[in-house]
Amino acid sequence: MQYLITGGGIIGMMTALMLRQQGADVTLIDRQLAGRESTWAGGGIVSPLYPWRYPESVTRLASRSQALYPELTDYLLETSGIDPEYLISGMLTIAPDEEQDALQWATKNHKQLSRIPKDEISELEPEFAPDTESAIWMPDVAQVRNPRIAKSMRETIIRLGVELLEEHELHGLVTDSGKVTGVETSKGILHADNIILCTGAWTAQLVSLFSDLIPVIEPVRGQMILFKTAPDLIKHITLWEDRYAIPRKDGRILFGSTVEYSGFIKQTTEDAEAELYDVVTNRYPILKEYEVELQWAGLRPGSPSGVPYIARHPEYENLYINAGHFRNGVVLAPASCELMLKLLAGTADESESHDYMLEAERS
Ligand SMILES: Cc1cc2nc3c(=O)[nH]c(=O)nc-3n(C[C@H](O)[C@H](O)[C@H](O)COP(=O)(O)OP(=O)(O)OC[C@H]3O[C@@H](n4cnc5c(N)ncnc54)[C@H](O)[C@@H]3O)c2cc1C
Repeated sequence: MQYLITGGGIIGMMTALMLRQQGADVTLIDRQLAGRESTWAGGGIVSPLYPWRYPESVTRLASRSQALYPELTDYLLETSGIDPEYLISGMLTIAPDEEQDALQWATKNHKQLSRIPKDEISELEPEFAPDTESAIWMPDVAQVRNPRIAKSMRETIIRLGVELLEEHELHGLVTDSGKVTGVETSKGILHADNIILCTGAWTAQLVSLFSDLIPVIEPVRGQMILFKTAPDLIKHITLWEDRYAIPRKDGRILFGSTVEYSGFIKQTTEDAEAELYDVVTNRYPILKEYEVELQWAGLRPGSPSGVPYIARHPEYENLYINAGHFRNGVVLAPASCELMLKLLAGTADESESHDYMLEAERS
């Protein structure tokens, strides 16, 4: 059985990886170098932000992925020689009005989560200046480093024997009575038994070329800034006002991110840089002593309620979609791809796949 995956972000590469581990014949195409879009730009938190705000369908995928991540990242390091920097750094969230919801969600989903008083916030993060009496503490939240996991996955799939065709842009499908027989690319037609679209924010645009049944996925720009500081200046992921600081192992601190519905424009803006700088230095005044080293933007594949589409396209028996992971593509990737493999094998239960179908209600 031959599989052709379009889109080499974390979702496409992980789908390729898992299929190849099962011995399948896999080709992955991307119009540029694999892993350079949202997957490169993200923060790499292995948890949704404010996870209690999400529907059960997102929590289910996140929980399963969180269980898979330690072994997966060990495997990626071992196979590729590139360390994705999986790190359990814990997440501190300031959301006084949501503490009850968070505690209830944690009890229901067996998560480590507690409400901590102000003095404990200061013990955890001495440089943080809280304006509240308490915070939500999740000690086992982990992170990966996006460019590194992207490079590590790319190298891993190449070593496993996935045929990676970069600079191959998908232009359309070749179809024959309800079946896709091939894809038209910028470099010619490619044939396969099954086609899987993992094209992130571009998926709806592509599907609209050949069907009226289109997933609701739109680009949502996220901008970040990066500080170069000393290791351990900030130790934990810190989240407040929908903005978060992520400390990397080497002392770099990411701060983001904006949520902008501005089409496919990926440029950064001075306004966003100024806003992010103000918010972060207000709570972490020590960061005023450090330069902003970099600013970047990525286009998230925004979907209603953040529920991804992991499904067969109803009009084509061998066309599948794995896209629309919005703010959580990193944390949802392993479980989403595991489910995609079950769909391809015809072994997925209706109960586990229903919420991610094209026709499923999402808001
Ligand atoms: C600022 C920011 C912060 C984030 N933080 C987090 C976080 O902390 N945790 C988390 O879990 N998630 C986070 N995310 C979200 C996460 O990064 C995305 O959900 C995830 O990367 C989506 O992966 P993807 O593979 O679907 O899409 P992408 O990584 O965008 O990959 C899509 C691929 O499809 C290719 N493509 C598109 N069109 C075509 C075509 N016609 N032909 C061939 N190839 C094509 C593109 O080149 C690209 O490589 C963040 C995102 C951003 C922007």
